[in-house]
Amino acid sequence: DAKERGRDNCVIYSAEMEHQVNTQLIIQNDLRDAIERHELELYYQPIVDEHGILSGAEALLRWRHPQYGFISPADFIPVAERFGLIDNLTRWVLKDVCEFVQQNAERELPKISINISARQFNDPKFVESLLVQIKGRQLTPRAFELELTEHLFLTDLSLIKARFTELQQAGFTIAIDDFGTGYSSLSYLQHLPLSRLKIDAAFVRNIGKGEKGKTLVKAIIEMAHAMKLDVVAEGVETEEQHTYLKSQQCDWFQGYMWSKPLPAAEFARLLPRAGEVRQLVSNIKPVQNEL
Ligand code: C2E
Ligand code: MG
Ligand code: MG
Ligand code: MG
Repeated sequence: DAKERGRDNCVIYSAEMEHQVNTQLIIQNDLRDAIERHELELYYQPIVDEHGILSGAEALLRWRHPQYGFISPADFIPVAERFGLIDNLTRWVLKDVCEFVQQNAERELPKISINISARQFNDPKFVESLLVQIKGRQLTPRAFELELTEHLFLTDLSLIKARFTELQQAGFTIAIDDFGTGYSSLSYLQHLPLSRLKIDAAFVRNIGKGEKGKTLVKAIIEMAHAMKLDVVAEGVETEEQHTYLKSQQCDWFQGYMWSKPLPAAEFARLLPRAGEVRQLVSNIKPVQNEL
């Protein structure tokens, strides 16, 4: 009867909650050592231009837990932020990207985009610590784009403005990630030295689902262009999405339609050596091992 079912539901619910709490505890405990244990790996997802030619890549963290298998960054990044581990992770990511760039110096490297957590902006030494790492390896900030989400705008605007200016003057370009899901308004963005807006995949997914979805994407692209920002579409999976985005002059594209995030060695094979013709990313076979 209903009472029985109610009780069952309650049991399922709390089991799920317990599972979540356990997951958080595991992440919290094990993430500290994940770096030393070489459980982290950086993948690269191509970003292409309107012809499908490789023009950039986003570095994305992967964690292979020895017992629990693959843990998504969507699960462990928030925990890292909460428990003060994000600085370490970002340092590791940047080190790994720098090594990748150095190891592939004979190839033509596109700009590499790195995700930065909003929290890190509160650290007054943040920009300096990035520069120490990059310049210590004789690399230039111009090789990198920093992706920041709109969660950033929950902190003090004048602080953000100062930090953005610092970054820009150092030579980094800056993109707003997951645009449209957060809290930013036109007036915020107007005053910041940005290069690109990344339209969140949720909007891209709605392109094939009626006129409203299209109208929203169109409005975002027009607004970005009016502010002299380039637009990157995230999570492009279908020809229909691609065609519509191109018809609206979207500048750059990222998504499974071209490639999933690739292990570094696989990504490196896409990079032309000096004098070689640039490849169309649409020639890549999709990676089979789902990550
Ligand atoms: P994000 O920065 O918005 O990254 C894009 C996410 O979309 C990635 O998920 C990517 O694998 C996924 N994606 C790309 N194209 C497609 C597509 O066509 N279809 C679908 N379904 N998904 C697509 P991922 O790698 O799981 O990362 C999730 C989030 O974790 C990232 O979202 C980012 O916020 C965070 N993250 C990942 N690596 C790092 C890192 O090194 N540092 C920080 N702070 N955050 C990171
Ligand atoms: Mg990103
Ligand atoms: Mg994103
Ligand atoms: Mg996202």
